[in-house]
Amino acid sequence: MSSQADPHARERIAIIGAGIVGSAIAWRLTREGHRVLLLDRAEPALAGASFGNAGHIACEQLEPLPSVRLLMTFWRELSAFGGPVHIPLRRIAALAPWMARFAAAALHQRRNTPALAALVRPAADSLERALREVGHPELLVRHGHYALWCGPRALEQAARTAHAARALQVRTEAAPETLTRAIGAHAPGTVSGLWYPDSAHVIDPRSVAQAFVDAAVQAGARFEQTEVRELLPEADRITVCTEARRLSVQAAVVCAGVQSGPLLRRFGLNAPLTAERGYHLEFPDTPPLCDAPVVYMTHSIIVTPMRGRLRATSYLEFERHGAPPDARKLRRLRRSLERFGYRSAPPHPGWVGSRPTLPDYLPGIGRAPGPAPLYYALGHQHLGLTLAAPTAEAMAALLAQRRPPLDLGPFDLRRFGAARPR
Ligand SMILES: Cc1cc2nc3c(=O)[nH]c(=O)nc-3n(C[C@H](O)[C@H](O)[C@H](O)COP(=O)(O)OP(=O)(O)OC[C@H]3O[C@@H](n4cnc5c(N)ncnc54)[C@H](O)[C@@H]3O)c2cc1C
Repeated sequence: MSSQADPHARERIAIIGAGIVGSAIAWRLTREGHRVLLLDRAEPALAGASFGNAGHIACEQLEPLPSVRLLMTFWRELSAFGGPVHIPLRRIAALAPWMARFAAAALHQRRNTPALAALVRPAADSLERALREVGHPELLVRHGHYALWCGPRALEQAARTAHAARALQVRTEAAPETLTRAIGAHAPGTVSGLWYPDSAHVIDPRSVAQAFVDAAVQAGARFEQTEVRELLPEADRITVCTEARRLSVQAAVVCAGVQSGPLLRRFGLNAPLTAERGYHLEFPDTPPLCDAPVVYMTHSIIVTPMRGRLRATSYLEFERHGAPPDARKLRRLRRSLERFGYRSAPPHPGWVGSRPTLPDYLPGIGRAPGPAPLYYALGHQHLGLTLAAPTAEAMAALLAQRRPPLDLGPFDLRRFGAARPR
């Protein structure tokens, strides 16, 4: 596709990144009458985290992860102690500044929770509305999810979690005995569980992004598969430099997941993103225990019923984005799942992807300072699928200079200071 073929090229708003966040924004802006150009080096939601996530619309995850309690008990979460977190020793020096910011953010969890909660609470309703409008309501299932604990402390852990949820006004109920008994058949000992009625799941994360892109393109947006090398301020416009050409656009929105940082530096913005990698395995042959995600809390695994298969995800691996997957992790995940009765022949090869995570676990949503019309929506950590629709609503308001549906101040990237010049 060339700019000459597009009579509206100069009026377009370029969106860089067609993961779930960029795709949802592309649709939302098109719906509001903007001319959109969506750019990605791959097909929509194929190359990034949006392809392989757990599909959970996590309306219960109101608190950003960094907390004083976690700082105290962090070691228990490390893979060396059987936990899901892996920080390769050779990465510690590179990760130190990010970790220092994580520790600082832990002191502000109470302040940051209402900001994140305002984005998370309406997420399932927002996604339901959006999917209805694009003609794919069937992609969202609103049956909540189950959290299950196994072992001698299961009852106490479930009770403590229910109590903490109540304090945040998150509804929970005891999980049905049929489910805990079914799990108990594979994990002898006590099994205790909670049902979160207000969460939801999608039956195919990639199809959700594709549904937004298809609806946007039908309404006049363009999708172009190309790598964006650089964005340049040009008075009150932006020049997008792709691998093939340069084009001047009315505005640009950076939604490039974990790779967003370099595109923002020239605008003075610092996005200290890290790749928090997670893995998945799929099971086409195993029937679901129920039509909702099941979180094995003791094993940090979530199993989600998806179209034609189950998908099991796990791990928080602080490895470099693009590094090869760790075969040992996939083997360990496979073994744990086999113990719970999940098997497939031939075995699924496994997938790894990078959650784009800022150290305070709040996303970055806003506009760069100065006259250049440069916007960004990134750093959605474990919640990018959950937050895509509300983020798109907020971005549409920002571009239209309307009052956004929530206070975007806490998501301004200037909280990390200005970018150092290259
Ligand atoms: C294992 C796992 C499980 C998860 N489970 C859940 C869950 O259950 N619920 C939930 O809400 N979230 C979940 N997440 C998090 C969620 O997947 C991410 O937050 C979300 O996908 C981020 O979306 P994104 O659009 O910002 O980034 P991405 O999906 O990573 O997309 C970024 C896109 O930008 C493109 N790009 C980057 N740089 C350039 C460039 N220079 N030029 C052109 N294109 C570029 C990439 O090709 C990519 O397509 C999970 C993540 C993982 C890894």
